[in-house]
Amino acid sequence: MNADEILRMFCATEHEKREWMRNPILIDEFLYATNGHIAVRVPDAPGVVAHSFLEITVESRTLLRTMFLVDIPGPGVPIPDLTAPIPCSECGGTGHQERRECPECGGSAPLGCQKCQGDGFIVSPAPTGEACEYCEGYGENPFIPVAVAESHFDAHYLRLLQKLPNAMLHPDGMNAAACVFDGGMALIMPMAV
Ligand SMILES: [Zn+2]
Ligand SMILES: [Zn+2]
Repeated sequence: MNADEILRMFCATEHEKREWMRNPILIDEFLYATNGHIAVRVPDAPGVVAHSFLEITVESRTLLRTMFLVDIPGPGVPIPDLTAPIPCSECGGTGHQERRECPECGGSAPLGCQKCQGDGFIVSPAPTGEACEYCEGYGENPFIPVAVAESHFDAHYLRLLQKLPNAMLHPDGMNAAACVFDGGMALIMPMAV
């Protein structure tokens, strides 16, 4: 797995309003990627197409840099074995959805429309196309807590960390946990359960 493949796993999909999160970003000698729940940092590498740090606000830039300045106590724990993913209830596991004009109200979205509940469109599972909003394109049900030491983490994010070489997690029961792997470091927010 090269730096670009690692970074892409952590980028946000097109649902993220903050467009800069959809691509890796280069700040000084590190490349970063985040979807707001999970983040990764690897040393600058050739072949990675990244935003310049000038494209994000000073606040976001500072946050990205400082959140990786965390204590890494002890050797950490490996990512636990995870049960098979439960296919997303909204997209059936494809990770994609299709948005069609509501056949009932024609998209004019009267508040009373029962069919689309005032959205003006109907969302249905699709084999390709835009990322499913509910599972963010991961294809599995989100919000499945997995206990690791004192913390709980969402299974579909742990599944990403599991793909990283020799990943070790450092949960402290409260804050974003560092995940150190060969060639970089990731951060994962714990779930409140
Ligand atoms: Zn409608
Ligand atoms: Zn889905």
